[in-house]
Amino acid sequence: MTRLIFLGPPGSGKGTQAKTLADTWSLPHISTGDILRQALKDKTPLGIKAQSYMDRGELVPDKLVEDMVSDRLSQPDTNSGWLLDGFPRTVNQALFLEELLRKLSHNGEKVINLEVPDDVVVERLLERGRKDDAEEVIRRRLEVYRNETKPLINYYSDRQRLLKVNGNQSQEEVTDEIKKVIAS
Ligand code: AMP
Repeated sequence: MTRLIFLGPPGSGKGTQAKTLADTWSLPHISTGDILRQALKDKTPLGIKAQSYMDRGELVPDKLVEDMVSDRLSQPDTNSGWLLDGFPRTVNQALFLEELLRKLSHNGEKVINLEVPDDVVVERLLERGRKDDAEEVIRRRLEVYRNETKPLINYYSDRQRLLKVNGNQSQEEVTDEIKKVIAS
């Protein structure tokens, strides 16, 4: 059973890797960023609430994303596994997820931490050119990552769930390394 959580700074390639592997294994790729961007495009109440946070590079309030993830992971297509990308982003979200997975009897999840140096991350984000990839917003997102999300590395390492992968290699090499570490 493959249940993978992708950690790593913005621009670490977690979205690309999660999507590639989800396609390979025919498992749902659950990206909170993608779900939020779609909601924003569709102008749903969720999208409208999330927009100002996303535009500024801030985190959307925990409750909004937690409800989203809870709904998504409760759908039957997740029973054979899933790849979660962009969630959790805070220790509170990680605690929420632990409880949710316990309730759903989804166990044995592993956490992939994609390690990429700061300067490489900034370079990649500037190239990507998404709406929230303006330099000011990038700076803020990296700061939010350092303050809110980075503590999750210790959180999952303490729980013996963390697998480290060098994200500063070609896309194919990263994919191979992920396959290798989860098999070992
Ligand atoms: P991403 O595509 O994962 O980089 O997410 C884009 C933006 O969506 C982030 O900068 C946040 O504003 C918001 N977002 C995505 N996932 C979360 C989350 N787990 N918690 C709070 N905000 C999130």
